[in-house]
Amino acid sequence: MCRQKIFWKIEHGVFSIATSKGEVIATDLEGRIISATINRCTYRRSYQNRYLKLRYRNGRREVSPLGTAEGYEICQKIYSLLIDSIGQVKEGTPEVSSLLERLRDRNCDWLREDSERILSIYSGSIPIVPPDQYFTVYIRLTKGCPWNNCRFCRLYSKVSYEVNTLSVLQKQIADIIDLLGEGIKSRRSVFLGDANALLLPTKQLIDALEIIKRYIGLPVYSFSDGFLTPKNKSVSDYSALRKKGMRRVYIGIESGSEEVLRLLNKPMDLEVASEEIVSMKEAGLNVSPILLSGIGGRLENEHILKSIRFISKLPLTYGDIVYLSPLRIYNDEGFHLLSNELGTGDENNYHAYAQADRMKMEMKSAYREIHGVDPPFPIAIYNLLETIY
Ligand code: SF4
Repeated sequence: MCRQKIFWKIEHGVFSIATSKGEVIATDLEGRIISATINRCTYRRSYQNRYLKLRYRNGRREVSPLGTAEGYEICQKIYSLLIDSIGQVKEGTPEVSSLLERLRDRNCDWLREDSERILSIYSGSIPIVPPDQYFTVYIRLTKGCPWNNCRFCRLYSKVSYEVNTLSVLQKQIADIIDLLGEGIKSRRSVFLGDANALLLPTKQLIDALEIIKRYIGLPVYSFSDGFLTPKNKSVSDYSALRKKGMRRVYIGIESGSEEVLRLLNKPMDLEVASEEIVSMKEAGLNVSPILLSGIGGRLENEHILKSIRFISKLPLTYGDIVYLSPLRIYNDEGFHLLSNELGTGDENNYHAYAQADRMKMEMKSAYREIHGVDPPFPIAIYNLLETIY
């Protein structure tokens, strides 16, 4: 039998192996599946042992979460392909030898138990991270959202807001480092969760950042709600956080229209949110404003035009990211009521993506008109389904 050729490498703590048939598998150095491309579909696995299937159809990226049985099936396929392929990897260094030994020992049951151990560290499921934070170490300084009342959001609806003490945080960090083992080498950042850790007093945040720096030493990212946080933070607070490792803050603006915000029950003062972003930029932080796409009916044009105007006035630079987040549709009474009030009727997911395309195009041309050049920052989709950890 003619064995097919394989190519492999270890880079930034990720082992990847490719076959001549175009299959590619990536694991961390403990053998946890990170992603795999098989039969022109890409599968991405989260620490919570969830799998996403990603593929392009008609030029559009499609994301489908797999059920438990489907996830298990794809996991078996990936490990069996991996075991077949690693026979050809030469054990040239101690690092490669011990990785191969671990890989031969891995299977889907180990992966499931590993995810249970990870979840127990966080005392429950881990919420979302922004799309560019897939390779992060999640640190749960706070739990839930202190507001938890926006009508379109269900992310923390079953979680009560809590703040972890520094000793709890320290134990969480020590446990996660211990559990990830060599796998931590694949991580690029720390994400300070959950929805609005920046609301905490600056001194408390600095103490947390010092612990993170001491134990993990990676750049730190976090969310801000844009309405509670600006009330207790100034440029000097943000500068102090930057000096301790904070790099980019993701701010859920949702819309540049006051009326849309009122209907969404987001108590955002757009002036205050804009001043917060200016303060963060002055302090040297990068920012990432997040806007919804998929607002329909009578407010559609107002939402698009005012959101574009809001973004155009911000001092955004290289290193910032504007995210457009397609409105996630929930099949519950509260969401149906909101849809009726917004006038979105039976607008669907396709509409949300089409609106994101329009917003992206018009945002770029508004930037070009004002500055004479293309925006130096990306305008990207923030698909809630895709932001697994
Ligand atoms: S959108 Fe943000 S501020 Fe509003 S409830 Fe959700 S997490 Fe909280």
